[in-house]
Amino acid sequence: MNYKIALIRGDGIGPEVVGEAVKVLEAVGEKFGHTFTYEDVLLGGCATDAVGKSYPDGTAEKCRACDAVLLGAVGGPKWGSDRPAEQRPETALLAIRKDLGLYANLRPAVLRPALAGACPLKKETAEKGIDLMMVRELTGGIYFGKRDRYQTEDRGEEATDLMAYSEKEIERIGRRAFELSRLRRHKVSSVDKANVLETSRLWRSVMHRLAAEYPDVEYEDVLVDNCAMQIVRDPGQFDVVVTENMFGDILSDEASMVTGSIGLLPSASIGDTAPGLYEPIHGSAPDIAGQDKANPIATILSVAMMMRYSFHLSAEADAIERAVDAVLSAGWRTPDIAEPGVTPIGTRKMGDLICAEI
Ligand code: NAD
Repeated sequence: MNYKIALIRGDGIGPEVVGEAVKVLEAVGEKFGHTFTYEDVLLGGCATDAVGKSYPDGTAEKCRACDAVLLGAVGGPKWGSDRPAEQRPETALLAIRKDLGLYANLRPAVLRPALAGACPLKKETAEKGIDLMMVRELTGGIYFGKRDRYQTEDRGEEATDLMAYSEKEIERIGRRAFELSRLRRHKVSSVDKANVLETSRLWRSVMHRLAAEYPDVEYEDVLVDNCAMQIVRDPGQFDVVVTENMFGDILSDEASMVTGSIGLLPSASIGDTAPGLYEPIHGSAPDIAGQDKANPIATILSVAMMMRYSFHLSAEADAIERAVDAVLSAGWRTPDIAEPGVTPIGTRKMGDLICAEI
């Protein structure tokens, strides 16, 4: 098969980690008989420098002409908040997610066996393993609701942010979660605050309706405050966790931290139509850019997610994940995950070793 991939290399370490991910794509293509072709798409600070806008005209069209999008990272101190909005990299990130209709954000939090020592939780908790998938609603809720700030007569200034969800928005993200659980361990935990919020009560009723349609999937409701506790107490109990935008923003960062390094965690943002967007959860790490120090594994694992969720190539995805585990088990480490006494390797060498394993 031939697949066309839009490459948004971006800023800072973005081009370095995407470079290694492309090497891995080539290794997968060779092993499994696929051809990958690439379309470079300019976005972020580098686009501001080149054409004066972080989200150049035609970006979404270029991406839509591809089967999937791979993004490194964008941003850096050079394009800070003193710039007008159209020159800031964050503006471009929000715009591309919206324009491609990416309403579901998938963030796996997996404690890789070779790195169990990096888990900040109790040893016996880490030993039980962590392999959860956070499914966050990405285009609704309080981050996209009406906001206002006004002067009152007697209470000083007042501000409001509106949290709104429709049945349709809840149902489509819920369905994603149930379908995903069928590719995993058949369990969905839906997180809400139904004891306080009306949006959560609607959320819960839609989820219950869906749960009846998926009798093979174990279902539970979890209040968001309890979920935050359970992630540090016993994260191994979770398989697929589905939640609204703001709860997901907070809980997915918490879940990432319990697995160790930021340089290892991939993500996917998907909608109802192609292309999905795949990216590491980390930023552009300007402090180590251009020094061959960045860990490319998060981006390489994002390619594994692309294989699995956009191209339905699970053997290829498994091959990438197994190669990463093999290289880590053999003791190879980039500086961010190197234990004391271990001599770290660089970005390129890590990419080469993973390709060789594939
Ligand atoms: P960051 O994730 O870039 O870096 C945080 C720390 O983690 C740094 O010490 C960095 O060196 C380290 N780190 C990150 N990725 C690493 C990797 N792959 N290998 C080794 N070490 C790694 O977060 P930040 O410093 O808060 O942000 C830097 C810039 O990135 C900002 O401009 C921010 O807006 C942007 N950002 C972009 C995205 C994105 O593109 N999706 C996400 C987050 C932050």
